[in-house]
Amino acid sequence: MKPGIRSLLLDELQTRLQPRFRARQVADWLYRKRARAFQEMTDLPQELRDKLAAEFNLGSIEVVRVLGSRDTTRKFLLRLNDGNLIESVLIPASPAFYGSRSDRLTICVSTQVGCAYGCKFCASGLEGWKRNLRPDEIVEQLITVERESGDRIDNVVFMGMGEPLANYENVIRAIAIINAPWGLGIGARHITVSTSGLVPQIRKLAEQPLQIRLAVSLHGATDEVRNQIMPVNRRYPVAELFEACRYYTARKKQRITFEYILIAQVNDSDEQAGELARRAREFEAKVNLIPYNTVNDLSWTRPSRNRQERFLAILRNAGVAATLRREKGHDIAAACGQLRLQTERQLAPP
Ligand code: SAH
Ligand code: SF4
Repeated sequence: MKPGIRSLLLDELQTRLQPRFRARQVADWLYRKRARAFQEMTDLPQELRDKLAAEFNLGSIEVVRVLGSRDTTRKFLLRLNDGNLIESVLIPASPAFYGSRSDRLTICVSTQVGCAYGCKFCASGLEGWKRNLRPDEIVEQLITVERESGDRIDNVVFMGMGEPLANYENVIRAIAIINAPWGLGIGARHITVSTSGLVPQIRKLAEQPLQIRLAVSLHGATDEVRNQIMPVNRRYPVAELFEACRYYTARKKQRITFEYILIAQVNDSDEQAGELARRAREFEAKVNLIPYNTVNDLSWTRPSRNRQERFLAILRNAGVAATLRREKGHDIAAACGQLRLQTERQLAPP
């Protein structure tokens, strides 16, 4: 398959195109005018348009289904050129305040087809890992969803299908394009990468210059709890993970977020809340609580509303900035990977 032109940085376009100013023209067509075919680039010589079309792929994504409504969460099931399905989700809130409504729009993008990390509560991991997304496939999720919805996206979170830090180079390149003034122009502070806790990559991320935000999917404050639901914890136990978080906050002079899915009788005890509060205070981290979304084939359940509120109260009483997502996405299979799984099963021969 031809390489995607939206995987290239401006300086790479410049070394490929003569004279150099053509690169900016092309970038303008790609990211501002959002061209869907090289032939639309009418201020380029015909010869150049033909050459680009012969060398590069433009448009790696097709919309298969859209679920949900404008005022809640909208979910986009997308098909890649090789037929694989991924998901992007549009959330009417900023990531810092998932629990509340706002006039900001956040897109949650996928970074891999499937996921190799096999967290026990997550639909994305159920059928294993298939492949990494290329940078253009990540960037085009934003372009496709903006086109399909007619909305303007303010924030990007890497919390869709896949483990972004296991596709490190492609994700960093996609972020560079999303952030660049010649690209999609979204500020680094409006871009959040979420990880299940890949310690070496968290350190690497701490050392690169972009001021993007980090969310750590904790889902348990101790090894005992985390080992039950996240196999990655056996490789990088909580002590090492918190050490890496410390390094990140020190290097970036930035606060991180802990994501915490509430699962009944697994991680929702008062003791876990207390331990989480202690860690969050230590890092001055924000905590996003997410009630577990039922995944077919998995036997976990979400705690009662009372239990969720009590967990939240313990954090808040300890002085932690915590939110509880009280969204209605449940009925449209809002948790990551669920829609793809459902659709593949419907499409699969019996
Ligand atoms: N792999 C990265 C990127 C995000 S994918 C990571 O684990 O951080 C995982 C996110 O999807 C989780 O943090 C959680 O917010 C959400 N998620 C996955 N399964 C879920 C479920 N069953 N219920 C609610 N949220 C879920
Ligand atoms: Fe992969 Fe994240 Fe799902 Fe875990 S929660 S299986 S790391 S996508």
